[in-house]
Amino acid sequence: MTMEHLLELDKKHFIHPTSSIQQQQEKGAKIIVEKGEGIYLTDKNGSVYMDVMSSLWNVNVGHGREELAEAAAEQMKKLAFSSAFSTFSHEPAIKLAEKIASLAPKGLNAVFFTSGGSESNDTAFKLVRHYWRIQDQPNRRKIISLKRGYHGVAAASTSATGIPEFWNMAGQMMTDFHHADTPYENGTDKAIVSLRQLIEAEGPETIAAFIAEPVQGAGGVLIPPSDFFKEVRNVCDEYGILLIADEVITGFGRTGKMFGVENWGVTPDLMSFAKGVTSGYVPLGGVIVSNHIHDVLKEKSKGTLFHGYTYSGHPTAAAVALKNLEIIEKEELVENSRKMGEELLKGFQKLKEEIDIVGNVRTIGLLGAVELVQDPKTNKRFSPDYQVAAKVIEALHQRGVICRAVTYEGTDIICFSPPLIINPSQIDSLLERLKGAIKEVKEGLTT
Ligand code: PLP
Repeated sequence: MTMEHLLELDKKHFIHPTSSIQQQQEKGAKIIVEKGEGIYLTDKNGSVYMDVMSSLWNVNVGHGREELAEAAAEQMKKLAFSSAFSTFSHEPAIKLAEKIASLAPKGLNAVFFTSGGSESNDTAFKLVRHYWRIQDQPNRRKIISLKRGYHGVAAASTSATGIPEFWNMAGQMMTDFHHADTPYENGTDKAIVSLRQLIEAEGPETIAAFIAEPVQGAGGVLIPPSDFFKEVRNVCDEYGILLIADEVITGFGRTGKMFGVENWGVTPDLMSFAKGVTSGYVPLGGVIVSNHIHDVLKEKSKGTLFHGYTYSGHPTAAAVALKNLEIIEKEELVENSRKMGEELLKGFQKLKEEIDIVGNVRTIGLLGAVELVQDPKTNKRFSPDYQVAAKVIEALHQRGVICRAVTYEGTDIICFSPPLIINPSQIDSLLERLKGAIKEVKEGLTT
């Protein structure tokens, strides 16, 4: 099909996820991606882009891996799909559950499978409420999460998301969801005080769980202070609240560790995952629960566990995930994520010395951010009228880089989450293009 024809059909029939529907109608899609290889994407016109977001923070092993296509084809030829409901089971899901248990922090050994991150978080919320209900504490229903946290778009996960624009779409958020301050701006102590106040105000005996990302991704790659999660774990233990780590972005090597919580030395009670478990080649997610929760569910659940998706434990998705995890381990991509993240940070720090609109820069593994500010000494932000981040994204696009900005609450944050296979010369090339893009935008601001 020609590009023109595709664009016309796109406008007419395709409602894009998280997009301006008005802009889509006026301007149409901008890039029609046709091919992916390594860290690169090629569009229908033959233009090549560095995909430094791993598409949606998920293509951890890079694009175009034939081994994954072969794993899917092999499984499909044998058994593409068969349900895992009730007493049915199959080898790929069993092996994958065992594999994920072996990678997860000690004490988390049982997995419930879903098709993505939103389903995983909704599952986690239902599981914790069920856990309390079967232990005669049905009032423990409330879920606390962090402002600026992102947990997905299903009914409950959108309510746990701490970015109010997401609730508007649903009319309002569900009851029993509450948001505490992120430690991003005011540090651990103030955030923990806010969390305690919220728990006390709501009543500790009404709270089922606290959920947070080990590093907030969509909120702007906000890396918490190193003591934050330990303090959160203490507060949860004190009040008997379960701790859920949303590892949808941070899982499977993204932060230079297999799971994000390993950076903070805490063990959660549940972990939700998706994205990197298959590197996005097929949809798959899940929730891994502690031995204790698993025991309570086994001993006290009476009758059917009324929760299950058609595709929970999909054999083809599980086969792809197993091969993907094998690649991550064989190619030592967790280690590469750590090392390349350090190189990226050095480059960001150099940019900060060279260009005076570069404010805070940070990486943790291959999850990074560059903040653009009017005055780096005071961290004074640009007026949103300047649209600084959007202009940098456009200038990067012109230089063949696909990237993402977070402009929520007046910030200008450029986010980075490249495939974990990225090498030093590709990092250099990215930094060179980033420098050119920021300089160009800065010059445009002063002329
Ligand atoms: N949790 C986090 C931390 C995420 O970043 C995302 C998606 O970006 C989700 C949950 C939702 O995952 P999905 O889009 O697969 O439903």
